Amino acid sequence: MTFQIINPWKQIAAAVLGMGVMISAASAAQKRPNIVFIFSDDHAVQAIGAYGSKINKTPNLDRIADSGAVFHNSFCANSICGPSRANILTGKHSHINGFRRNGERFDGSQTTFPKLLQNVGYKTALVGKWHLGTDPQGFDYYEILPGQGNYYNPDFIQMDGSRKRYQGYCTDIITEKGVEWLKEREGNEEPFMLMLQHKAPHRNWSPHPRHFNLFDDAPVPEPDTLFDDYSGRSRLLKENEMTIKDHFHWGHDAKFKGDNEFPEYFKGLGNGEYRRMNDEQKAAWDAYYEPLNQKFLADMRAGKLSDEDILRWKYQRYIQDYLKTVQAVDDGVGAVLDYLKESGLEENTIVIYSSDQGFYLGEHGWYDKRWMYEESLKMPFLVRWPGVIEPGTQSTALIQNIDYAPTFLEWAGAEIPEAIQGRSMVSLFENQGVPDKDWRDAIYYAYYENAAVHAVPIHDGVRTDRYKAMFFPRTREWNLYDLEKDPQEMTSVHNDPAYANILRGMQQRYWDLKDFYDVNSATIPMTRGDEGWWRSRQQEKNALAREGNVDLAFIGDSITQGWEGAGKEVWESYYGSCRKPINLGFGGDRTEHVIWRLTHGNLNGIDPKVAVLMIGTNNTGHSMQDPEQVAAGVQEILNIMKERKPETKVLLLGIFPRGRTPFDQKRLNNVAINQSIRRFADGERVHYMDIGHVFLNEDGYLPEDIMPDALHLNTAGYKLWAEAIESKLSDLGI
Ligand code: CA
Repeated sequence: MTFQIINPWKQIAAAVLGMGVMISAASAAQKRPNIVFIFSDDHAVQAIGAYGSKINKTPNLDRIADSGAVFHNSFCANSICGPSRANILTGKHSHINGFRRNGERFDGSQTTFPKLLQNVGYKTALVGKWHLGTDPQGFDYYEILPGQGNYYNPDFIQMDGSRKRYQGYCTDIITEKGVEWLKEREGNEEPFMLMLQHKAPHRNWSPHPRHFNLFDDAPVPEPDTLFDDYSGRSRLLKENEMTIKDHFHWGHDAKFKGDNEFPEYFKGLGNGEYRRMNDEQKAAWDAYYEPLNQKFLADMRAGKLSDEDILRWKYQRYIQDYLKTVQAVDDGVGAVLDYLKESGLEENTIVIYSSDQGFYLGEHGWYDKRWMYEESLKMPFLVRWPGVIEPGTQSTALIQNIDYAPTFLEWAGAEIPEAIQGRSMVSLFENQGVPDKDWRDAIYYAYYENAAVHAVPIHDGVRTDRYKAMFFPRTREWNLYDLEKDPQEMTSVHNDPAYANILRGMQQRYWDLKDFYDVNSATIPMTRGDEGWWRSRQQEKNALAREGNVDLAFIGDSITQGWEGAGKEVWESYYGSCRKPINLGFGGDRTEHVIWRLTHGNLNGIDPKVAVLMIGTNNTGHSMQDPEQVAAGVQEILNIMKERKPETKVLLLGIFPRGRTPFDQKRLNNVAINQSIRRFADGERVHYMDIGHVFLNEDGYLPEDIMPDALHLNTAGYKLWAEAIESKLSDLGI
């Protein structure tokens, strides 16, 4: 990638530092632009006027757009709250910054753009939602919401760790606190960067009373795909749990009080926001919601409503509440813009509006995000910089949230670290949104949070200006969409012969981009907890481990699990209870799943003397993964063993041969992996053996009376395995 950074401010800063001249850094830096980054949670572009909303009006957001630029192809790298924030702070994809799933803890010691802005003299502040599990670093001032935060009378975590509760409405409080900080800075010369991060319009969509009646005159139009039946795409779509129809909660989403009267239509979560309200707030709330609720409930009790009517009612409740919370964000944006104008800061302050990802506003029958479909993949990106960005700019350049950090750094005249994966967008702003010839032609996306709320599977993919390819590792399915012909993504054309070349090309782009961004799935911890048997086995094995009393652990995939099947008798006679063994083999596992298991309970409670590790044949069998990448996965497992069980000797086995003939492609791939992993043996902690030859005949053929399916051992095979490692186990003291 060749990308010239032309930045006058960096040269000024260098001159000041280099020559030691008698002007203060502050005065040289004074003209550097201020940055106000207004960021909301789950605000989809379909609900912004400047993006052509058909369902609401956002006059203040449109002020940014009218006086600046709208980016129509703006995407997240991982469509969920915490990970998107980590992408933005670091300028890196999730597998690099380590925050892949909500609930993980962000490693705050890593390099982030606020820290780098501080280094070049910026004052930095953060108010609002953070959601990264660890304390913010790189801010001169912050006040953040705990976790998801609340709409009513929210608590804020202070810089000293204490909590304060403020009476009022969260969106308004965040705006006020941001403006207060700006006012306190009046007269200061240093440039500043303010992040105003709203909770709104995140679930449970609790509006301020001033917006209750916004849609009294007419219902909100329904999206075309509200009644999507999920046919024609990955079968995994049907498994997700984020439909308005079946996954809408009684109090939390529908805003009913009391017990759930219609459990066949509503899930059971109550309304936690209502419980936080003071009497006055509750009175206003009830005055609006109760008459509407009672009317609906009376109709329900009278059996007057069809399933379709009920879905339509839920959609209106959902979308109206959502849009009302958006309206308070829009009000807040207006207040910030007004303040910048009145204070004279407008000229030299860049204002950006974005949101951590998009959201389904009833499209595909969904609320929530996560899937790589357009509605949640897209992030709003509105930006204005008077005098630099031409008002009314409309850009279709492909941008992504990993680009924000390098952009801010270039604006501030700071060095952009090599390790940042995003690209500065400054040239786009200076060229009316038109990308340079070497600008990216595709973005890479990855979602990791399976086996969690809403049951959306792990998937990743690429999107160009016209096509989108998605890959689902669990079912090893590809989906392909032609966004020009099928903008609502209702039919995957991956099996359509007319698209065979496009699919091949998109798959090539996928592998290229994974290579470019250093995505090695063999080393990224992955759970298969969305598969019932796997989840049960994991719980069972963790429970066994907690009991302790293990000297010998076998770690691997189905071939290791088979000690409980075809190998059972051999296991009993060689290991039985006298050697205190545990079988940590899980059929179908690849290196990334073993990494997950070993860091999620399989080792908790045990201190084996020896661990026998054999893993990787599914990395080959499922995708012929590059041998060096699989070897890196094995290396990561060894690193985890070293960190968690430094006393355990590891007997690393070469991956067993597979396929009948010596020239079977998968067998050759395993041979290549073995050539790499043998180097990991140190003769002290890690010992290597390749016992594959014991299963083969003299010509290198794999006989059916050892491996009937040319992959898994029968009883005779397990006997050969046990015999082959027996003396080594004794040497290792077991
Ligand atoms: Ca979010």
